[in-house]
Amino acid sequence: MASVEIGSVKKYYGDIEVLHGVSIDIADGEFVVLVGPSGCGKSTLLRMIAGLEEISEGDILINGLLVNDLPPKKRNLAMVFQSYALYPHMTVAENMGFSLRLAKQPKKLIDQEVRRAAEILDLQAYLDRYPRHLSGGQRQRVAMGRAIVRNPKVFLFDEPLSNLDAKLRGQMRAELKSLHQRLGTTTIYVTHDQTEAMTLADRMVVMKDGNVEQIGSPMDVFRNPANQFVAGFIGSPPMNFIAGKATEEGISVGDGEMIATDGVGRTTSDRPVYLGVRPKHLLVGSSAGPVNFPFHVELVEPTGDEVELTGRLFGQRVTAITPAMYVRSGETVPVALPPQSLFLFDRVSGERIAPL
Ligand code: ADP
Ligand code: MG
Repeated sequence: MASVEIGSVKKYYGDIEVLHGVSIDIADGEFVVLVGPSGCGKSTLLRMIAGLEEISEGDILINGLLVNDLPPKKRNLAMVFQSYALYPHMTVAENMGFSLRLAKQPKKLIDQEVRRAAEILDLQAYLDRYPRHLSGGQRQRVAMGRAIVRNPKVFLFDEPLSNLDAKLRGQMRAELKSLHQRLGTTTIYVTHDQTEAMTLADRMVVMKDGNVEQIGSPMDVFRNPANQFVAGFIGSPPMNFIAGKATEEGISVGDGEMIATDGVGRTTSDRPVYLGVRPKHLLVGSSAGPVNFPFHVELVEPTGDEVELTGRLFGQRVTAITPAMYVRSGETVPVALPPQSLFLFDRVSGERIAPL
């Protein structure tokens, strides 16, 4: 097992800088998820850790050892990709043992390691099968088996579940988590899917355009997003952002309606802001709160126990999630905005204005 330190790492492709000085300290045994939209530099960073991509500037240390110039083989890491890339003409056992055979390890040791990995992944019954006779989930498990047999110090995963359907993805997510709980191996996991990040991570690193926006535990980031980007990216459905103005009296939105924010965001000069509120925190119904605003419902989508309502509040599009209730599209219903669940962001910089 190992710690991983990423210090002020930059990456250029030609003249284009795609990572702008990323620093992350990963403790021994931690499960860290790099999450962000496509193109933000997650795979590039992971490949630099793996040694598959040159580090333009900055340092990467594994267990305190500078690895910038160390070839991938010597880093003692194992990487699992989205495309499992199994050898079709090899059985499951041969696929899993391949790297050890390549390293000229004795047959006895290879068999032993393959059996150990198969046991961990519940693949014992499939060792003699060929990849074409396996389901997508089983193939992905074999790909993980290939990583496990090498007893790496660190696991690197690059969107390993993206090719699976939603149900299988959920199952494999749970398996990955339990695998980490059993093996305790330091893991760096890349995904664009905020649900995967929330459910898997000890800590998550939210990235955007080659920068780290925030690092923290999933609940910490969810409850305390550093800026508007993080607030909108983490949480599903996304947080609503209502454009308004911070003024001397409070926050004004729409036609000048004032929203109580317990004094936060009050300014002497008018400042453009976004009022952030998560869909579940928009309280729908006449008994919702002491101060209600009209919500013009345009779309009603039942999801079982709950209903997702999309419509207009202060002339702006918002989504609300409420316990199942009878609302029809076209209706106007009262909603309350509880001050304690509101967020405030500078509309220009996106920065969070003091926690409400
Ligand atoms: P992510 O994995 O977050 O989707 P990537 O790390 O793949 O993002 O890419 C980050 C940025 O670097 C993107 O703008 C991408 O176009 C660019 N990029 C990635 N690989 C190369 C390459 N080999 N040559 C030039 N640009 C690249
Ligand atoms: Mg990628």
